[in-house]
Amino acid sequence: MKLLFEKSVPGTSGQYIAPMDVPEYRLDASVLRESAPVLPELSENDLSRHYTQLEKRAFGVNDGFYPLGSCTMKYNPKVNEQAASLEGFTDVHPLQPDSTVKGCQEVIDQISKALMEITGMDAMTLTPAAGAHGEFTGIMLIRKYHEMRGDTARTKVIVPDSSHGTNPATGTMNGFTVVSVPSGEDGCVDLKALRAAVGPDTAGLMLTNPNTLGLFDKNIREITKIIHEAGGLCYYDGANLNPVMGISRPGDMGFDCIHLNLHKTFSTPHGGGGPGAAAVGCRAFLRNYLPEAFSDAEEDAEGKKAGCPESIGKVRGFHGNFLVVVRALAYILSLGKDGIRDSAIQAVMNANYFKVLLAKKYTMAEPGLCMHEFVMTMEREKKENGITALDIAKGLLDEGIHPPTIYFPLIVHEALMAEPTETESRETIEDAAEKFLRVYDRAMKDPEAAHEWPETTVIGRPDEVMAARKPHLRWEP
Ligand SMILES: *Cc1c(COP(=O)(O)O)cnc(C)c1O
Repeated sequence: MKLLFEKSVPGTSGQYIAPMDVPEYRLDASVLRESAPVLPELSENDLSRHYTQLEKRAFGVNDGFYPLGSCTMKYNPKVNEQAASLEGFTDVHPLQPDSTVKGCQEVIDQISKALMEITGMDAMTLTPAAGAHGEFTGIMLIRKYHEMRGDTARTKVIVPDSSHGTNPATGTMNGFTVVSVPSGEDGCVDLKALRAAVGPDTAGLMLTNPNTLGLFDKNIREITKIIHEAGGLCYYDGANLNPVMGISRPGDMGFDCIHLNLHKTFSTPHGGGGPGAAAVGCRAFLRNYLPEAFSDAEEDAEGKKAGCPESIGKVRGFHGNFLVVVRALAYILSLGKDGIRDSAIQAVMNANYFKVLLAKKYTMAEPGLCMHEFVMTMEREKKENGITALDIAKGLLDEGIHPPTIYFPLIVHEALMAEPTETESRETIEDAAEKFLRVYDRAMKDPEAAHEWPETTVIGRPDEVMAARKPHLRWEP
């Protein structure tokens, strides 16, 4: 497809600006550019078509099945968008006096209360911009807790090897040494290894639950007990609260601090880098360390406000990605207490049904029941027939569905990680399973052809390393 610059016809214009009826003001020559910028010149019609063509090349949940594991690509109800486009939410400024944005404060109060009830936490902040940022904020609270007690020997954060990749990154970004603990045969944290890893230098543990194998750690209470007895705090990565919400609560499992990805579990269209929002919850003894946002109080040079001198400060300007929060509240209120619980049950049921259907051909990394997602492995097929997880993913593109996550988690070779979400119907799941099985058969019959898939997409197999490391993002005349 041609770029706008290549479609440009000099002299064409798509803009209609009224004649100037105010005095002309010349900027100082020092701030003027020497020559006019090179901009594409197109009619409004051609411009509109260009973006529509681009849009048709994208794939989203509104196009079809999107089982991208660990991403929770659920359907986002349109009523959320209506709520988020109300003028009272869109036409406000973060520097307005608090007394003029009471409705926005009410949204934050209401969702905070709902999320505290869902997670069993005592306080919440909604300022972090995404999941990883929420983790960063949460681990800052834990660091602050030890600092305030004068306990500077706690330099290590324990992260099981089945955790999300952002967990070890968060520990390191916060200045801790990350200690990895292996999983046992059952895919859960190896308790013996955990006991051996804790000590007076343990600041805390970060647990992704359900873990990246889609399993709820059956020893979760024992895990938090081991950490607490060693003097550390427990952090719960609740990015994927989908199968847990309304059924069990991290607070009751012994966790001190948690983040939720509002843009996964509580809807909001996401992908391609945003927008996201994380809610970070903590127990009462960590409350004073939360980043403060809502107050008319003056800030000092470090971004701290009067009345909360112990706060970790500011992690982001103002109140976070507020419209994502509005969508999440609309979602929670429209589901209601029972609906939240039902949706968790449905997420688990859909994943297990999909898993059973795919198990006819695909090898599961962990047999048995899963939570909201599960992992398959193409390790044997790769060894025996040369067929990789990538081949399967590319073949699924030709079937018109989005592939699952591939090569993650790292602890499974040739991994395919699928998450159907609760919003898919039985028919859709059965249809998708048929496509997965057909792709598998076709690959086994002709592995050579499988390496050439996809056949129907605009771009087939780009050099992904080059694309990530040396992206070519500028048009050069
Ligand atoms: C998605 C995810 C994250 C990171 O969230 P972002 O919003 O992408 O930063 C962290 N942990 C888990 C378990 C996740 O699934």
